[in-house]
Amino acid sequence: MIVAMQEKATEEQIDAVIGAMEEVGVNVHRTTGAMQTILAGVGPTAGLDLSKFEMLPGVLHVHRISAPYKLAGRAFRPEGTVVEFSNGATIGGRHVAVIAGPCAIESRDQIFAIAKCVRSASGGFLRGGAFKPRSSPYSFQGLGIPGLELMREAASANGLLVVSEVMEIAQIEQMLPYVDCFQVGARNMQNFNLLRELGLIRKPILLKRGIAATIEELLLSSEYILSGGNYDVILCERGIRTYETATRNTMDIAAIPVIKKLSHLPIVADPSHGTGRRDMVPAMAKAAVAAGADALIVEIHPNADKAVSDAAQTLYLNQFEKLVGELRVIAEAVGRTL
Ligand code: PEP
Ligand code: MN
Repeated sequence: MIVAMQEKATEEQIDAVIGAMEEVGVNVHRTTGAMQTILAGVGPTAGLDLSKFEMLPGVLHVHRISAPYKLAGRAFRPEGTVVEFSNGATIGGRHVAVIAGPCAIESRDQIFAIAKCVRSASGGFLRGGAFKPRSSPYSFQGLGIPGLELMREAASANGLLVVSEVMEIAQIEQMLPYVDCFQVGARNMQNFNLLRELGLIRKPILLKRGIAATIEELLLSSEYILSGGNYDVILCERGIRTYETATRNTMDIAAIPVIKKLSHLPIVADPSHGTGRRDMVPAMAKAAVAAGADALIVEIHPNADKAVSDAAQTLYLNQFEKLVGELRVIAEAVGRTL
């Protein structure tokens, strides 16, 4: 259930409503917006008479949530979520963020060269995998924690935030000192144990859509994190598997406005995995910004053709710099900055 409080509701009134909700056995999640406070009650509300809550002082309206996801739904935060990072950077506001970096961290020289480029082209966020989910067990699996140490150093030297993939629960603790945002990869979108654990920490999570997941399944996966009290979740469209073979995945641009409508969570587009082809990345990046994406995540490398993973979809640094310039024009055309 959703209880929307009146704009002028006092803290005492809000507390009383939370108390009444807890009394009937529901878990209360509170969001305090610029205009009003919204209380989401998750739990056994099916047989509840909601009019009882409607009559409490300070309540504007009460309604049941029909969607299977409760906290990820737009009604919980009608104005949209803006995820704020430790240095004040945000994802989800008017500014379109850019997250760029190699598929995998390979060496000190590689990650420092990339960080320098990201700082001058877009600023913001440096991505790079230290734990890589590879289709083959014989492919490069990532540098692990030593790789993260390098990326942290390169990011901090350039005023950037670090985004890196976590593949299992045991890595969360190890990675905490190095990352500003945990990425959950497509293959782990339904690793519910991992998602639950990430709900207990207080760092933003970038949750990628599974290769065969519906939008509803993606939102339900985010619910595992949100229900633990970690409300800083950013969703990511990275292409899905269809019958089409011309591209590595089928970039579902329509998922962006669909998610904007259904959910308050920011949505990031990944045109690199979305196409799997360097020559198509810029077009899909521009389409995603035009469609309302809150951020882009792009794979870049100084020696793109020689990247140890995902070389075919990785942009050279000069291609990335050119793309950022073009994206600024698109962002402005749709009322945003980049
Ligand atoms: C990646 O970002 O490099 C990655 C492995 O992505 P995905 O989980 O979307 O395949
Ligand atoms: Mn990759």
